Amino acid sequence: MGTLPAEIQETQTRVVHAVCSHDCPDSCGVLVTVESLTAANGAVEERAVKVEGDPAHPVTRGFLCGKVAQYLERVYSPDRLLYPMRRKAGAAKGPAGYGAVKGREADAFERISWDEALDLIAAKLKAIAAEFGPESVLPYSYAGTIGQLGFGSMDRRFFHRMGASQLARTICSEAGGVALKQVYGVKLGTPPQDFIHARLVIAWGANIHGNNIHLWPFIEQARRKGARLVVIDPYKTRTAALADEHLAIRPGTDTMLALAIMHVLFAEGLEDRAYLAACTHGAQELREHALKREHSPERAAEVTGIPAETIVELARAYGRAGRDGAGSGSAGPAVIRLNYGTQRSENGGTAVRAVAMLPLITGAWKQKGGGLQLSTSGAFPFNENALRMPELALASPLGREARTVNMSRLGHALTELGNPTIGNEAAGRGAPEVGGASDPAGPPVKALFVYNSNPAAVAPNQNAVLRGFMRDDLFTVVHEQFFTDTADYADVLLPAATFLEVKDVQGAYGHLFAQVSQPAIAPLGEARSNVRLFAELAQRMGFTEPCFRSTENDLIDQALATDHPWFAGITRARLEREGQVALNLPANAAGEVLPFSTAEWFKTPSGRGELTPVPVFVPPAESRGGPAARTGKYPLELLPRKADNYMNSTFANIPRHQRMEARTTGLLEMHPTDAAARGVADGDAVEVFNARGSIELRAQVGDAVPQGVVAARLNWNKLMTARRNGANGHAAANNVNALTSETLTDIGAGATFYSTLVEVRKSVD
Ligand code: SF4
Repeated sequence: MGTLPAEIQETQTRVVHAVCSHDCPDSCGVLVTVESLTAANGAVEERAVKVEGDPAHPVTRGFLCGKVAQYLERVYSPDRLLYPMRRKAGAAKGPAGYGAVKGREADAFERISWDEALDLIAAKLKAIAAEFGPESVLPYSYAGTIGQLGFGSMDRRFFHRMGASQLARTICSEAGGVALKQVYGVKLGTPPQDFIHARLVIAWGANIHGNNIHLWPFIEQARRKGARLVVIDPYKTRTAALADEHLAIRPGTDTMLALAIMHVLFAEGLEDRAYLAACTHGAQELREHALKREHSPERAAEVTGIPAETIVELARAYGRAGRDGAGSGSAGPAVIRLNYGTQRSENGGTAVRAVAMLPLITGAWKQKGGGLQLSTSGAFPFNENALRMPELALASPLGREARTVNMSRLGHALTELGNPTIGNEAAGRGAPEVGGASDPAGPPVKALFVYNSNPAAVAPNQNAVLRGFMRDDLFTVVHEQFFTDTADYADVLLPAATFLEVKDVQGAYGHLFAQVSQPAIAPLGEARSNVRLFAELAQRMGFTEPCFRSTENDLIDQALATDHPWFAGITRARLEREGQVALNLPANAAGEVLPFSTAEWFKTPSGRGELTPVPVFVPPAESRGGPAARTGKYPLELLPRKADNYMNSTFANIPRHQRMEARTTGLLEMHPTDAAARGVADGDAVEVFNARGSIELRAQVGDAVPQGVVAARLNWNKLMTARRNGANGHAAANNVNALTSETLTDIGAGATFYSTLVEVRKSVD
């Protein structure tokens, strides 16, 4: 930018409808104002000058969150990666490669052209596949963009055709997603707009104000009519601070609380027997299970830390909500906003199943504004098979579907899978947990292709991950927008486009509107979309199938090509014309869309809301009630939280966001009793450690966490201090994931960030 001659002849503006593709339930409609400057010599330069929420979008309603409201600072950041690079000969991998001087990352790299980059990558992938088999190549991506094309289309075609290992994308939501489908058969929930009709809103592990902000006005509207907001969360989030009540549940005990609520509902006859009979399967078995003494409110109080009388009162309010004449206030029903934090625990899948059963017991789904929302993503019947073409694996050298590697065990995959000797010499303070998972057969990972993710910062058991990244024999490609922690380990670094620069089609996991995102500006510098990157790489690999020549428009058409009735009438042309289009969900005689109000909605094998197998509470091994705590070595439960103003690790490098997060940067939040027991005072430097690693933080003593729980938030490694690690005091910094494990969840084989035990000691300065 800024290359035009001074004499501007003409300035024009236009407004483009885009969709925020960050990993957030709200999938906002975004209006981007673009200014076109035409110089005297005819040269045209375009620049986005404003982003705002689309007022026509029924959920966005004209505003954006604090993370994206000033998005142009990120798009036009001087730190954007704008051209391909390769690691200089002799430059070490990791932050040490540039001397660990912030802002000097480029010193480890040299600029190359896209042609050189693609040729180099193709040659390396071919050579590695020939020597070790194509499964030695591992793609690693997640939800850096959740547009259908950017999240999974041409990239999947490429890796299927190559025969590369498949990636089980489990790191965030798999346990909860699978659990929800076990109960309902589909990931669907209460529409956000309907929350205004609720009388009781329970935010269960849901920091709505922090990361689902477009639901908040609907809740506030309900509260103005008398609704009560109860937050169940171990941490006093922004949402908890604004609620009518905050129940500080102990981590990993949600199943027990749900069972105790069921206990009261069944004991006091607050279940909806007609609904249970018509719409569920297994009600009698669940009833007998819930009524056991071990699920009494008194027993649950011992486990969860929530007083028995509070549990009883909440269960009664929940069971009576929506019933005529019961209680005071408006006559609306109860709705639960359950979020994914609940399932990032060893038994988190069971916890989601248990909580998700509550509205089936009370029949809350029958009323507008009742029910539960964890995710609505299953309502969008995108044709993922057409986009991803898994059948291409049959044309790969394997001639079959490739093995699957779990992304939640990346450290293990890079250091032990297929070759138990890799990395063991640097095994550090402890070996990774395996969580009962068995290894897929096949070769070690020899090439890693990272896009849409920053695993060096966000993957659990970070020390193992970084040991893997440091391997000399690992060829790493990173497609990124910034010099992330992962970019520091790249052999080839490719510039990625932002959502303002690409075309895509998108659903949502927090509302029910499909949208097309139009490119507002051309990709900056030489940045390229995922679609273009993998299409061009496919040509270099010699893949001749026509599917590697699909354009963005072709791919959108393919994504929408389905005869599913919920997408009836939704075409690319219509989405482009209207911006956002409501799904064709079935309505009742009154014209209302009430998910799970009748048996037809359920997609389970039984065709009913599935209440079996009954949920059984088992304390996580890494929790105060589990076996790991009995050693007494690591008695504190760690919440490695996401920052309110970042999106996982995205935005952590943007100065505005850093200022918004300054209040929590580098802090360990502790309960006064736990701090006093360790001689720690507010502001003291502390070491937080367990067998997997340690990090240096500063204690903040207060009431944000209950006794026995400590909390710190995710950041980029290289923005953390590491006074005890590495040369110059900052060469090998870690973040909270130095402490988290690769143990997997009970359902869905997901990550268990919130089942982490640690100890804390005062640092010696
Ligand atoms: S991050 Fe979420 S709330 Fe913010 S603009 Fe994007 S979709 Fe909307």
